[in-house]
Amino acid sequence: MNYGVDRALGIVVAVGDRAFSVRAGADAGLLDAIEGLSREALTAHSLNAVLAAGRASWTALHERVDEAVRRSPGDFVDVHDLNLRMPFEVADYVDFYSSIHHATNLGRLLRPGTEPLMANWRHLPVSYHGRAGTVVVTGTPVRRPKGLIAGEDGALAYGPTARLDIELEVGVVVGGHTDVGEPMTIDQAGEHIFGVVLLNDWSARDIQAYEYQPLGPHLGKSFATSISGWVTPIDDLRPFLVAGPPQEPLPSAHLRTVERWAIDVDLRVLLESRTMRQAGVPPYEISATNFAGLYWTIAQQLAHLTSNGAALRPGDLYASGTVSGPTRGTEGSLIELSWGGQEPLALPDGTTRTFLQDGDRVILEGSAGTRVRLGSVEGEILQ
Ligand code: MN
Repeated sequence: MNYGVDRALGIVVAVGDRAFSVRAGADAGLLDAIEGLSREALTAHSLNAVLAAGRASWTALHERVDEAVRRSPGDFVDVHDLNLRMPFEVADYVDFYSSIHHATNLGRLLRPGTEPLMANWRHLPVSYHGRAGTVVVTGTPVRRPKGLIAGEDGALAYGPTARLDIELEVGVVVGGHTDVGEPMTIDQAGEHIFGVVLLNDWSARDIQAYEYQPLGPHLGKSFATSISGWVTPIDDLRPFLVAGPPQEPLPSAHLRTVERWAIDVDLRVLLESRTMRQAGVPPYEISATNFAGLYWTIAQQLAHLTSNGAALRPGDLYASGTVSGPTRGTEGSLIELSWGGQEPLALPDGTTRTFLQDGDRVILEGSAGTRVRLGSVEGEILQ
C-alpha cells in the first residue's frame, strides 16, 4: 500500500488500483485511538503530522488501514480518478552521490585521465544540501532553466541550458525527530525511515559544470526536483531488504550495522518525445537498473547526515544519488547513457537524444517483486 494526498480527499492509501480515503475511514470510526495520531493528523492535507508521530504510530496505522480495507471492500476510489498533490511539505532536502558506478562514470567523463573516484568517496556518503522549496510532485512541468554557461571558446553567457538531464533516484521520507547536538545512531535508522518515493533530480549539466567548483551543485539542480505522489512505506519493502555491496575499506564505526538496508527494487527510465506523443507511440525505456547495488545504504546515509549533531525533522527528504548499474543501459542519467553526448540514444520516432529537448516527457518507475509498485514520477520539459 502507498500513501498519498489527494487535492480533494486528503490522505489516501492505494492498494493496487484502488484508493482508500483515510478521512472517510476516520469518519467511520475505523481509525480511532491510534497512539500519536489525532483526527487532525489523519484528516490533514499532508502527511507531515503522520510523519511526526513516529514508528509505532506508523505501524499501527498501517495495520488498521489494512484491516479497514479488508472489512469494507466497497469504499474505494479508483486511483486514476485521484489528483495527487505533494504528499508532504519537505523540511530539509539532501542529495547523496552513493552509486559507485555513477560516481565512477562521472569521474571519467568530467576528469579524464585521473582517478575517477575522489579520495573521500569510499569513506563517507558524499552529498550536497539541496533546495526543499523546489521539490515538486509528479506531473509538474519543468521549465528549461537559464544560467551562466561557459561556451567552447570559454566565453561566458547567461542563457538556457543545452544539457538538461535527469537523475534516476530513490528519495527517503523521514519522520520523528532528533535533537540538535544528538547524532542518530545507525541502528535507530529504522525509527526514522517512514518510506520511499521515486525522485528525478533534474540537472543542467552546463550550468553545474561552471558553478560547482569548489562548493558543489546549486543552480544547476535547484530549479526542480520531482517526486512521486505516492510514498511507499518501508514496512512494505521489508521483504526486499538485502545486504548491500561489500565495502572496502571498512566504514567508520558510525556507519557500520549488521542490519540489511539495501533494497531490491527494479527501476526504469522511460522517455516520450513530443512527436512520439503526437503519433501515439508509447514511452520508450532508455534505462533499467536495480537499487540494491547502491554502495552506501539509506541507513548509512541517514546516520551520516546526523553524525555532526544536525537534527532530523518530520518531512526531511534525502535522495540516494543517481542509481546506475555496472553495464551499458543501466545508467540513471543521460550524460552517462549518451556518454557525455558522444553516443546519442535512438528513439522510436527516428530522432536521437543526448540531452532533453523541449516537449520531452520523462517517467521513472519502480517495483519490488510482483506486488509492490512504487509511485511513478514524471515531468515534461517546457521551453
Ligand atoms: Mn542527484
